[in-house]
Amino acid sequence: MSQSQLVVALRANSAALLPVLLVASSVNEARPSPVINIRYEDTALLQEGDKAIVQFTGASGTPVYGTENAIKELRATYPFLKGKDEKQEDSWLSELDSFAPLDFKALEPHLQRLDKHLTLRSFIVGYSLSAPDVAIWGALRGNRVAAGAVKRGALLNLSRWYSFVEELCPWTAAVVERLNAAAKEKKAAKSKEGASYDIALLNTEKGVVTRFPPEPSGYLHIGHAKAALLNDYFAHEKYNGTLLLRFDDTNPSNEKMEFQDSIVEDLALMGIKPDKTTYSSDYFDQLYQYCIQMIKDGNAYADDTDKETMGAERMNGIASKRRDATVEENLARFEEMKKGTPEGLRWCIRAKISVDNPNKALRDPVIYRCNPAPHHRTGTKWKIYPTYDFCCPIVDSIEGVTHALRTIEYRDRNPQYKWMIDALKLRPVQVWDFARMNFIKTLLSKRKLTKLVETGAVWGWDDPRFPTIRGIRRRGMTVPALREFILKQGPSKNVVNLDWTIFWATNKKYIDPVAPRHTAILKKDIVKATVKGAPAAAYTEDKPKHAKNPAVGVKKVAYSGSILLEQEDAKSFKQDEEITLMNWGNAYVRKIHTSGDTVTELELELHLEGDVKKTDKKVTWLSTEGQEMIPVELVDFDYLLTKDSLQEEDKLEDFLNPNTEFREDAVADCNVAELKEGDIIQFERKGYYRLDRPYAPGEPAVLFNIPTGKTGGK
Ligand code: ATP
Ligand code: MG
Repeated sequence: MSQSQLVVALRANSAALLPVLLVASSVNEARPSPVINIRYEDTALLQEGDKAIVQFTGASGTPVYGTENAIKELRATYPFLKGKDEKQEDSWLSELDSFAPLDFKALEPHLQRLDKHLTLRSFIVGYSLSAPDVAIWGALRGNRVAAGAVKRGALLNLSRWYSFVEELCPWTAAVVERLNAAAKEKKAAKSKEGASYDIALLNTEKGVVTRFPPEPSGYLHIGHAKAALLNDYFAHEKYNGTLLLRFDDTNPSNEKMEFQDSIVEDLALMGIKPDKTTYSSDYFDQLYQYCIQMIKDGNAYADDTDKETMGAERMNGIASKRRDATVEENLARFEEMKKGTPEGLRWCIRAKISVDNPNKALRDPVIYRCNPAPHHRTGTKWKIYPTYDFCCPIVDSIEGVTHALRTIEYRDRNPQYKWMIDALKLRPVQVWDFARMNFIKTLLSKRKLTKLVETGAVWGWDDPRFPTIRGIRRRGMTVPALREFILKQGPSKNVVNLDWTIFWATNKKYIDPVAPRHTAILKKDIVKATVKGAPAAAYTEDKPKHAKNPAVGVKKVAYSGSILLEQEDAKSFKQDEEITLMNWGNAYVRKIHTSGDTVTELELELHLEGDVKKTDKKVTWLSTEGQEMIPVELVDFDYLLTKDSLQEEDKLEDFLNPNTEFREDAVADCNVAELKEGDIIQFERKGYYRLDRPYAPGEPAVLFNIPTGKTGGK
């Protein structure tokens, strides 16, 4: 940095780093002030409290990854960031991420811990300001949830320290100003684009080719839907480009035709039409040749280090003992691997990138490995398969992909992706990152979903409690709602744990205006009522299925002197109270027969002149005469998990909700007999339902409750 040039690409919010950078630029250190060039690739994301993912060119000119390393790099240049106990300071810096969540529950324990730590301290480490004070102050200041908590003042020591840092360091004012400006900018940008969704790719002049690369190892889930819809959006809506569907079938142990077929169907269901479908396995011959070229160029070597040792060596930056084998030795071993001999099976091929690069993804990643299992497309032709790290950049490049969209956790692997392309002198591809989508109490790992299917914990991949496209559709999600919801999430690079309520609220917007209204009465302790004043003979009338939308059509409503009411309603009635029978008119409650706490029978007297606006109780009812009442089963579900977010170390079995399915028997109006599978209706005063199994004589219709956002639930 003696050249006083520092280029930082702030890809996402880097609340912790930002103050450090600004400080560095504003503190007079009696040295040439560096030019700090902060390029906000996405300014709107500042202040989102996201995990900072920062690529930073350090003093030596080599890239530095992550906020923590960037801060350490700056500390080497700016003495004011240096304390006296580097080990302690580093230990605090390694915890910066704990102050990133925008969720108070997740933040709270960390804030409390820091508060406790600061009880008798003015600084986080030792007796002077050091990097952790600046970085953690920045992390808290940049996270609106954390800053709010500190402001509230309940954490006394923390608030004291926070104000102290601000008093001590006049530059904090500049940081606050910067953060406020960013927030303002974000607000302005938001109001300008309204609810519309506008994100762009760089370098699109020469056309756009995107690809969705699922591994055919499971059914698509809502996370995949995001990846697929974003690629589709760029290729077909934003630009006039091409969308490839590429089955990334490089691991025969997991892959099946069944999964491949389901992916094609589910994409079609979502309205996504790939322009071309390809397979990584189509390129096995070429990939094999590229691997040989890598070996011949001295860019790859064969390794038989056992898995555990290899992991430890990569962790500690130790070279494999096979790293300097000759080209001939490496080629011979690759040949053994290809034959799948017992000797060959012991080896893998690794790219020769670096032994100890701070970015561990660059520490000689494995690019080819053996697998004797037959492949669902190439059969037993191959015993060796390229890894994702090797295959993806090469196939992207040969297929003409211009923009490779990847979830943000691959960020560390982007330099590796580029390295493969450079090493093989292939056409470069631009990588664009987006946030992985997560939902509370929801598994989005194919491995774990597979386990639940295989152990019978759910009915199958299309279980209505599952986050698969089929599962949420069976639960009542509509495709336009899914598209809207996902495209709205699109621009965010925040990895957050979404709540299903917003999703279902979006869905409700689509179903409410078109869902026909019907009536169902719970069977348990159902109450028979006689209605005085009703015509002696039962009759039916045609009534709109949807009061505000005549296009939905008409249904038959039966009227007679004998009707059914729900126990809960009946129980609430008082003697001689005037109530409203919905879609009929008012009536007086003349007699209430009970047995213990339960109402057994009612006598009502019609009062159709009564004002329906003046009654407190508007109840649903069904005539026992003039129609055939249809037995229905109403099913509701709960989350499969009992914990908001499963951690790596959590055992799935420990957090499986034992009770997730709730069934109630009811009877419904005669029109329900005509509903078909997939029809979405509303049972008045109960909610929205999707018909899962139509009515057949002797078998009730089965309907699943559709969450609306108020109740959450998935
Ligand atoms: P898993 O690890 O659970 O098997 P995966 O990501 O490996 O999931 P793929 O079939 O490789 O499954 O995924 C296809 C595409 O979908 C990839 O581009 C991947 O990044 C993307 N994707 C997967 N899960 C999510 C998610 N939760 N949010 C956004 N995109 C996702
Ligand atoms: Mg994958």
